[in-house]
Amino acid sequence: MADITTATYAHALDQQDELAHFRDQFIIEDPALIYLDGNSLGRLPKKTAQAIRQAVEQTWGSRLIRGWNEGWLTLQEEIGGKLAHLLGAQADEVAIADSTSVNLYKLTLAALAARPDRHKIVTDDLNFPSDLYVLQGAAKLAGHPVKIEVIPSVDGIHGPVEALAKALDADTALISLSHTTFKSSYTYHMGDMTALAHAAGAMMLWDLSHSVGAVPCALNAADVDLAVGCTYKYLNGGPGAPAFLYVRRDLQNVLHNPITGWMGQKDMFNFDLDYAPATGLRRFFTGTPPILSVLAIEAGVDLLLEAGIERLRAKSVRQTEYLIELWAAWLAPLGFTLNSPRSATQRGSHLALGHPEGWRIDQALIHEMHVLPDFRKPDNLRFGITPLYTTFTEIYTAVERLRTVVVDRLYEKYRLEGPYVT
Ligand SMILES: *Cc1c(COP(=O)(O)O)cnc(C)c1O
Repeated sequence: MADITTATYAHALDQQDELAHFRDQFIIEDPALIYLDGNSLGRLPKKTAQAIRQAVEQTWGSRLIRGWNEGWLTLQEEIGGKLAHLLGAQADEVAIADSTSVNLYKLTLAALAARPDRHKIVTDDLNFPSDLYVLQGAAKLAGHPVKIEVIPSVDGIHGPVEALAKALDADTALISLSHTTFKSSYTYHMGDMTALAHAAGAMMLWDLSHSVGAVPCALNAADVDLAVGCTYKYLNGGPGAPAFLYVRRDLQNVLHNPITGWMGQKDMFNFDLDYAPATGLRRFFTGTPPILSVLAIEAGVDLLLEAGIERLRAKSVRQTEYLIELWAAWLAPLGFTLNSPRSATQRGSHLALGHPEGWRIDQALIHEMHVLPDFRKPDNLRFGITPLYTTFTEIYTAVERLRTVVVDRLYEKYRLEGPYVT
């Protein structure tokens, strides 16, 4: 059997990789930097840089206000329509708008208003903390008492599926979960969990931020009610890129956007003084979208569609498996724990490795080893595998350097903790 701990083996895997050429579609100023944080901020596609330059210098610069009627006004729905292909949804069920947090807030309040006789939101403690803050804020404004039940994961890695099922009852209005959880990468079975929600008469709201572009989602097949997600991670939309929302078609004219504004108004250019919601997904819009940032999302989505989500997923699974094999051979003996599910069907495209010195190891990797992972408290080094541009050789080299940092105790000179965006 081939020795997986050799550079030759990694090169061979890259040679066989049918998606390898997509890396050339990105601006990579420093090819020696091993970037394993594409699950926090994706790389810049070359076409995005061109599109932004053109939008600034030509469209905005010369077309001015006419730009709105020459494409800007429908851009959120057009790019959403493309994104729908990655999500297993209809083109008119997905649109770009606001941030993930704001979309979550809008859809949570919309769901609570649709179930006024129910008083509970169910979620888990693997959820992104900001999502919990949003749920807490929305619950306060529901207009009737709503409590939030946060079901704990037993091991901090796997989703508490059985306990969630038990918590869903006739008083549950909504269950809201991260499809792929940000820390451990645990990924829920979307169809099963949604079916459990529906069996209890509750609505299901998925946050797809850590799935979209890396893990196939079948929103229609799973009969999902509502979803939100981020475009600056695996979609490569750029820092702070606007997010997306999904509302199943039959709910679009039934639910109400709690943040009413002119972009969601029926016949907005009539400038009526009273709000009347637009039909379809538009009613979930509020104010003027940041067009340059919306534009920046499109090229990244096009690349993912061209590569195909099934092929991307297959590569991502091969790469996370490879990283786990290297962990078992090199890192487990040094005290690293695998803080992600061992089974590929239960994980997304990032992996968490725990080590008591995780923070200082992270610092040494960044400052001395030209490797950029990220860190999540208390001890998780997260490695984001982005199948569009991560190579097997990068994974191999990152693990080899990680081993050096620990064996040679290079981390010891770093401070115990610091304030960083990672
Ligand atoms: C990244 C991420 C967000 C980001 O929300 P913003 O509104 O863009 O700050 C939200 N939820 C999850 C699960 C995420 O991973």
